[in-house]
Amino acid sequence: VKKRILLLAGGQSGEHEVSLRSARSVLSALPRDQFDVTPVVISPQGRWLAPGDTQRALESGEAQGGGDLVLHRAATAEGYDAVFPLLHGPMGEDGTIQGLLTLAGIPFVGSGVLGSAVSMDKVMTKQVLASAGVPQVAWRLAVRREWQTRPEEVRARAGELGYPLFVKPANLGSSVGISKVNHAGELERALDLAFDLDRRVILEAMTAHKPREVEVGILGNDAPIASPVGELRFDADFYDYETKYTEGRATMHIPAPLPPEVAERVRTLALAAFRALDCAGLARVDFFYVEQTGELFLNEVNTMPGFTTTSMYPKLFEAAGLSYSELVTRLVELALEER
Ligand code: ATP
Ligand code: MG
Ligand code: MG
Ligand code: MG
Repeated sequence: VKKRILLLAGGQSGEHEVSLRSARSVLSALPRDQFDVTPVVISPQGRWLAPGDTQRALESGEAQGGGDLVLHRAATAEGYDAVFPLLHGPMGEDGTIQGLLTLAGIPFVGSGVLGSAVSMDKVMTKQVLASAGVPQVAWRLAVRREWQTRPEEVRARAGELGYPLFVKPANLGSSVGISKVNHAGELERALDLAFDLDRRVILEAMTAHKPREVEVGILGNDAPIASPVGELRFDADFYDYETKYTEGRATMHIPAPLPPEVAERVRTLALAAFRALDCAGLARVDFFYVEQTGELFLNEVNTMPGFTTTSMYPKLFEAAGLSYSELVTRLVELALEER
């Protein structure tokens, strides 16, 4: 008997578009002899679109029309065997949808509330991973109220890290709201931008040199496996939004040309991070490798990474011998697995 799958796409974050693209790929890859898939697009305003509007949104890349608010729709999701919440960023990858589905008693693909929420927040991630002994760059937290009332304290924290440094909203993705700050004179603008998008902001020391950016895929629940390591190369100061999403601006190299012991260390640290953060199903774990010094830093853990057929995560597992359609099938199996 076929499993009924609800595929959620779009969503309220800045990564709405990316999610629709991923959903199109997953939709055509889930084997129809095993799965009965219903896509539901969530509009940027949080409305769950009806089937006709969902179809149009997937085709045009633009979600239009009304629809129910999230809570009502979740209650009607009872008729599904599993949900694939293919949503990125806040209100999708951060434990909110996962909480809703947990309350509704429906199994879903990917990490639960805890793993999703902690991995989404760059500060919480750093705190948890520091206690697990995972190497990371130096960082400081600032909250909006401090920036509004005691800016000199926030400036002092930046001064402790030195320049250049990175300023990032704690809970976002796709490089939205991220600035590379070259000197103290650029700090105010970067903090204003980040605090427009989040109440919590992280300041991060930049690696000693421009790092190589290497990523690894993790697949599984309590016995996870790591993919080969991949590398992203691009011609820009850092991997910003434009470089990420302009066709042809970045190239993927799988496997990454790394000394074997570095690649092995990446895989081991990624598995340790996946466990420490209580992730499940899948994650893409991103690292900075500083070739000049041999240092490796874990940058972040993405619990619902980009998922088009040309995205890094599926490509990494393809290199391991798992086709895109085998991979999505495996993810649904993992969602249904007894844990
Ligand atoms: P994603 O889309 O992968 O979720 P994100 O929005 O969470 O990304 P980060 O990965 O934290 O953002 O940072 C974006 C990019 O900024 C990195 O890929 C890297 O190019 C650069 N960068 C961020 N932090 C640092 C750092 N501490 N040192 C050097 N480069 C950095
Ligand atoms: Mg991220
Ligand atoms: Mg992300
Ligand atoms: Mg990133």
